[in-house]
This record gives sequence, C-alpha cells and structure tokens, in this order.
Amino acid sequence: MFIAKNYKEIIENIPPKVTLVAVSKNHPVETIRQVYELGQRVFGENKVQEMVTKQALLPDDIKWHLIGHLQTNKVKYIAGFVDTIESVDSEKLLIEINKQAIKHQRIIKVLLQVKIAEEDSKTGMEVSEAKEVFFKYLQGHFTNISITGLMGIGTLTEDCEKTRREFLFLKHLFDQLSTQKPLETLSIGMSGDYLLAIECGATSVRIGSSIFGIRKQTFNP
Ligand SMILES: *Cc1c(COP(=O)(O)O)cnc(C)c1O
Repeated sequence: MFIAKNYKEIIENIPPKVTLVAVSKNHPVETIRQVYELGQRVFGENKVQEMVTKQALLPDDIKWHLIGHLQTNKVKYIAGFVDTIESVDSEKLLIEINKQAIKHQRIIKVLLQVKIAEEDSKTGMEVSEAKEVFFKYLQGHFTNISITGLMGIGTLTEDCEKTRREFLFLKHLFDQLSTQKPLETLSIGMSGDYLLAIECGATSVRIGSSIFGIRKQTFNP
C-alpha cells in the first residue's frame, strides 16, 4: 500500500524527461513486482548475485541497472542481460565489459562513475581518468560498449550547497564531454537529494528508500 503511494508521489515530482531508476537492493522479488505492476521498468541493484537471482524471477522487459561497485571477475554473470552498468570506475573494468559484450554479441550501455564527493571516499574515477577513458572510447577502443553518460554520488550531508557544488561539477564535465559526443545520461541524485539533482541537470535519478521504505540488511528472494 505505502509503496504505491510513495511511487506515485515520486513520479509526480519527476519531470517526464528524467528517468527514474528504482533502487530495489535488499528488497524481495514480490516487492519489485508490485512496483513493476505500477508501470516501473527500470530497476537498480548494487550486487551482482542479487541482480542475477531477481532477473531470473522477474519479467524480461525490466531494464536492470547495476549501480554498485563491480569486480571484473563478475561481469560475466550479468553481461547477457544487464541494460546499463552505471558504476564503471576503471579502464580495466571497461575492457572486461567490452570483452563480455562481444561474447554475448550485444552492446552494453555504461556510465562512467566519477568521484564527486568532496570528503567521502566514495568510489569513482578522478576526472582526468574519466577523460582519458572517454577519449580512448571515442578512438574506437571499445567496440561493444556505449558510454551513454556519467554517474556520481554526492556527499551524504544536510549541506545542500555542498551537494549542489558536487552535482554542478559533474554537470560541467558532462557538458564538456558532450561536445565530443552527445551524452544522454547524467545520473545524480538519490532519495535525499533528487530534486536538487534535477535542478542541477540530472537526466536520471536513483531512488530507493523514498519508494520502498527502509531497507533490510540482507536480501531474501
Ligand atoms: C542505495 C543506492 C541508491 C539509493 O539510495 P536511497 O537513499 O535509498 O534512495 C542510489 N545510488 C546508489 C549508488 C546506491 O547504492
């Protein structure tokens, strides 16, 4: 019940052009199905095994986004079905995703995750590394990957001016890279700061607890 209400509220707050990634990590399959029935098709998960389990049990037209750190040796488990890997934080990982995408004869969409939090040690590439990787991509190094944009996680803080600076920092890089190749996705903003993120140019927001409520610590299908 409360999930339907939450979901409708979020949908009303988000302009139609902004993609909602419903972050379903730690929530059971039946809960995801409930949100699916309300029309949601894009879901975000942060663990490979959990995503694989859920994908097998849920409808095929769900677009699965991986949003958590991905180890290279686990890419193979999701390469056959994942829609977008939002958390690409190294060239090594990109090379492996490309290899697995070739094996599966598909193009995998990815976002480069850039470190934007001023204090937190959240994962992500430095800007210089992201630029380097992007230019290699433009030169045609990664045949079966489409870099569709950038992802960033802001500092968890009450200080929205800090968060705004971090978001605008990524928006600036997004615009810079877009002059080389038009990018479509700027993934910033979570439950606590998604409205600010949209103000700052987000085209995609990743929202978990404001839809699903508080997460359990572990996942049971
Ligand atoms: C869990 C998570 C979210 C969603 O967080 P909420 O605060 O529950 O909306 C968004 N992005 C990433 C990378 C996450 O790990």
